[in-house]
Formats: sequence, C-alpha cells, structure tokens
Amino acid sequence: PATDLAGLLSSRIRDVPDYPKPGVLFKDIAPLLADAEAFAALTRALAERATALGATKVVGLEARGFVLAAPAAFAAGLGFVPVRKKGKLPGEVHAQSYDLEYGSATLEVQCDAFTPGERVLVVDDVLATGGTIGASLDLVRRAGAELAGVVVLMELGFLDGRERLAAHLDGAPLETL
Ligand code: AMP
Repeated sequence: PATDLAGLLSSRIRDVPDYPKPGVLFKDIAPLLADAEAFAALTRALAERATALGATKVVGLEARGFVLAAPAAFAAGLGFVPVRKKGKLPGEVHAQSYDLEYGSATLEVQCDAFTPGERVLVVDDVLATGGTIGASLDLVRRAGAELAGVVVLMELGFLDGRERLAAHLDGAPLETL
C-alpha cells in the first residue's frame, strides 16, 4: 500500500539543518539511494506511475532527478530524456529561465528530444518553490511533447510550489510519493 511506501521512503530521507546555507532544511536522499530495498521500491513506484499515466518518455531534472528518472524509465520500458542546466547539451536546444531567490537560472532540453505527440512524465526529487519544475514543463511543451504528469519524491508544502505550478500543469496531475 502507498502508506507503507511513503513510510519506507520517509525513513530513508535525512534532514540536514542549515545546508547549503543557514535556515535551509536540506532533504538528503543519499540514504534512500544507498538502500537497495527503498531504491527499488521507489523505482517501481515511479515506473508504475509512468505506465498508469500513459507516458512514452520519462524526463529527469539535473541532477538528482536523473538518478530517479533513468531507472524508472528502464523499469517501465521507456526512454529517458534529461533536462539540463544551461550549456551542457550539444546541438539545438530550447532554453527556459526562471527566477531564483537571488538572480535566475536557465534549463535546457534538446530540440529533437521528443517526437510530436509524445507524452512525458517529469520526475524530480524535491518540489520546493516550483521554479525548476515550472520551467521544465514549459520546455517539454516547447519541444513538442504533451505532459502526462509530474511525480516528485517529496513536496515542501509550506513553500506553495503546488499553487505556483498550477498554471504550468494545465490540468496534468502532480503527485508526491
Ligand atoms: P524549486 O525550484 O524551488 O522547486 O527547487 C527544486 C530543486 O532544488 C530541486 O531540484 C531540489 O533538488 C532542490 N531543492 C530545493 N529545496 C531543497 C531542499 N530543502 N532539500 C533538498 N533539495 C532541495
């Protein structure tokens, strides 16, 4: 059952206070990734969601999203597509900037990553303000794919990322494991 999965996953996530700077409670997923049972359960859950949502590709967001999305894509029998930080992908790319607390960041996806009509599941570890996922959803659409849904490992509810993402989701589901 889902509650057992949530319990297992929660028990393997380590809270690190004041990292990477004072006032931030960092959610460290290293213990989860290092635990074969928890990592397998997470991978199976993500793959199950990809299948249930009718995804044809799984997109992972650099860098921890890669570690979750790539094995899930394999387990679901699907291909994987990376959304990367600016300047890492060769060839033609779509670029999308978004605001950070100080300054801005840019994410990119290759223009030929998807064939028209593909349905994409977007995966990342933490939904905080929603800036990263919001920009990624815009990129996926600009690259010609349809959004099947978004699945994150955890959601920092007090930052209202879910509310901020609503406009970018356009009705697609946002699920938290
Ligand atoms: P945001 O764009 O604000 O939703 O931030 C999401 C990205 O930052 C994700 O890719 C996370 O990996 C990372 N992140 C944000 N807050 C935390 C946190 N408290 N612990 C771990 N990672 C975080």
